[in-house]
Amino acid sequence: MSETNYNPFRTAQAQLDQAMEVLGLEPSMRELLRWPMREYRYRLPVRMDSGEVQIFDSYRVQYNHARGPTKGGLRWHPDETIDTVRALACWMTWKCAVLDLPLGGGKGGVTCNPTSLSTSEKERLARAYIRAAGHRMSVDRDVPAPDVHTTPQIMAWMLDEYETMMGYHHSGVITGKPIPLGGSAGRNEATSLGGVVVAREVERVLGHPIKGARCAIQGFGNVGGILARLLHERGAKVIAISAVDGAIFNEGGIDIPAALTYYNRKMQQLGGFDGGDATTNEQLLTCDCDMLFPAALENVITESNANAIQAKVVIEMANGPTTPEADKILHQRGVFVVPDILANAGGVTVSYLEQVQNTYNYHWSLKDVHSELERRMTSAFKDVYAEYERIDGPMRLAAYLLAVERVAEACRLRGWV
Ligand code: GLU
Repeated sequence: MSETNYNPFRTAQAQLDQAMEVLGLEPSMRELLRWPMREYRYRLPVRMDSGEVQIFDSYRVQYNHARGPTKGGLRWHPDETIDTVRALACWMTWKCAVLDLPLGGGKGGVTCNPTSLSTSEKERLARAYIRAAGHRMSVDRDVPAPDVHTTPQIMAWMLDEYETMMGYHHSGVITGKPIPLGGSAGRNEATSLGGVVVAREVERVLGHPIKGARCAIQGFGNVGGILARLLHERGAKVIAISAVDGAIFNEGGIDIPAALTYYNRKMQQLGGFDGGDATTNEQLLTCDCDMLFPAALENVITESNANAIQAKVVIEMANGPTTPEADKILHQRGVFVVPDILANAGGVTVSYLEQVQNTYNYHWSLKDVHSELERRMTSAFKDVYAEYERIDGPMRLAAYLLAVERVAEACRLRGWV
């Protein structure tokens, strides 16, 4: 979130407006889809280890539930506002629809600096959030999951608080749980693996092979780090990686297993890693590479650097990394952008599979989860690519046209519009 006056919800609305214009949607439908259907704010008092009580602002946005219960992660971030959460909930609505999941879109956020919280403070914050927001969640209503700075352990505390409050077990109310509490095999690497399936589809349609591709990955956390490993294992040359404290560049290819060990040992930092030259996150985005994977936060490819992007393919593993102005520039320059609502949908797809398993009180094997994820991601890519060829326009617009039409149809069938 590099520009201070940047509002991601305006970006989300602008992307939606463009699709609704092309689809020629009726004015009342446009008005309905431009805003969340339900949104909640909570002030959470949490006792810190010092004994003092600190108050945290938090949100849950249930953007649109025409296709099913709202689904989407919970982010803990110092810059979280109602508008970041609205934007992310809006994107979740289209993401679930692109994958044709029977789910609506939602998102939650807590404004906090998770790196300054102790483990017990995190637990009390997670439980406080559920005590405030849990009454409006259920497997049939709204289902949270991990996102930036939230983990399976945080999901476990939230589930325990929820089930204690309600007095019954219903593990499908939260996904991304640890496996012993009903989590799915394969959920941890699902977003990254989905990105690899997308890269493989790009290879098929554009003929840019993954093997030997020079890849730059911004973000080395749960999505970027696992993605780097999976690409490395498939013979890609990962030449640039980054964490919050800076980036590493190595034209010859970075030793990813060594970088992962270093990153985990250094508490999620890469500064001082000697497997390449130190550089910045900004330089990583514009480095000479074949494929760029923004896998950190929103608003990193903007009007100010879009002309300098050298990658031929951008696969958006973060939510909202590219602004609409940058999108235009990249499209004019012939850069092939696979949008977030398709590229990073592997996570929510396996979350959905987790809910299905929870409903049946059953566990699928890793092999079954992976093959179902692959089947669904491949099929969604093919649908979007067919639409891209039909409109001869950007992949983002193609994905939006499919998704928004599916949501609009559900709204019409319900008699909402
Ligand atoms: N936080 C992830 C996303 O942005 C996953 C959401 C989910 O599993 O519900 O897609």
